[in-house]
Amino acid sequence: MKRIAILGSTGSIGTQALDIIREHSEEYEAYILTANNSVEKLIEQAREFQPECVVIANEAHYDTVAKALEDLPIKVFAGAEALCQVVQMEDVDIVLTAMVGFSGLRPTIAAIEAKKTIALANKETLVVAGELITALAAKHQVAILPVDSEHSAIFQSITGEAFPEFDTNGQLTGYRPNRISRIILTASGGPFRKYTLEEMKDVTAAQALKHPNWEMGAKITIDSATMMNKGFEMIEAKWLFGVRPEQIDVHVHPESIVHSAVEFEDGGVKAQLGVPDMRLPIQYAFSYPQRLSLSGERLDLFAAGALHFERPDMEKFDCLKIAYEAAECGGNMPCIVNAANEIVNLAFRKGRIGYLDIARLIRRAMTEARFIEHPTLQDYLDNDAEVRQLVEGWL
Ligand code: MG
Repeated sequence: MKRIAILGSTGSIGTQALDIIREHSEEYEAYILTANNSVEKLIEQAREFQPECVVIANEAHYDTVAKALEDLPIKVFAGAEALCQVVQMEDVDIVLTAMVGFSGLRPTIAAIEAKKTIALANKETLVVAGELITALAAKHQVAILPVDSEHSAIFQSITGEAFPEFDTNGQLTGYRPNRISRIILTASGGPFRKYTLEEMKDVTAAQALKHPNWEMGAKITIDSATMMNKGFEMIEAKWLFGVRPEQIDVHVHPESIVHSAVEFEDGGVKAQLGVPDMRLPIQYAFSYPQRLSLSGERLDLFAAGALHFERPDMEKFDCLKIAYEAAECGGNMPCIVNAANEIVNLAFRKGRIGYLDIARLIRRAMTEARFIEHPTLQDYLDNDAEVRQLVEGWL
């Protein structure tokens, strides 16, 4: 039995993770559930899954949660600091980081320091502090298993591509991976794939929130519409798989059936295909290296028919270009971009700015915010707060 801490259990990834735990209750236990503000949903989940403890990040809701669960032997904690403490609990095997945005950084670090396996659904952690996180994971010999569908596809494609090496005495000295020459990172293209730049001027949050293939939370759906999500996934892939940005080729693939692919040095390409269903990558992160049964629709290639691939339009999707520039620049530039993006993403959802202001304001943050070539964790925390304030001021 693996005990799982789900950070962000009431969100889209969190609830689908609980579907998997429900389907494989003999394999997995929901040991910790946490939410930011979704009090009712958290209480309902806690009553069903009876975890060891729950955390409500917004302390204002502590009394409501504690009172609602007082008849059950469930510990209730509140606050951001509690998130960092519960992930270190001895019995936790896997920490699923499914919270939104920069808030995932500190609990992820705490979990790595406690040597917990990370099922990473919070890509912003690697976008902001990929260098720091991957170094820390290597130091503590902790596995970071991707939950993002594209990165899971890449991970599934490279599984089995490492071979044992022996010294002259026949002793196993380690495993050498076959080298990746290129990653084909697929993207649906989002709801505005066919729009002209002119038409994109007037799009609304309601239009952007209608994703053609995937059911996701509001923040990531807007990031998908701007393709900032794909840019962040490029940075995420860079850190997870140790490749350079120029080795990552975004392919717009409107059918969302090829979830991404890897090209090796000999030109061989391996991909993972399937219907768009986040439960598979979530479950694979839990069950790796095993595969377990999973209910649901199966891929029907006859019904799918032709699969299409297009180059992304970097003029139209400036956010994708921004991500490549930030990755190239390094230092805290991805942190600046992420913080600015979190503010403008929300502002767009609230109707405070137009669609084209999103990339424009992020670019302004890139030139005006403080650049740090070799940031520490404290630099990231300070810089994130500074940039948010800066961009908030322009709104
Ligand atoms: Mg993805």
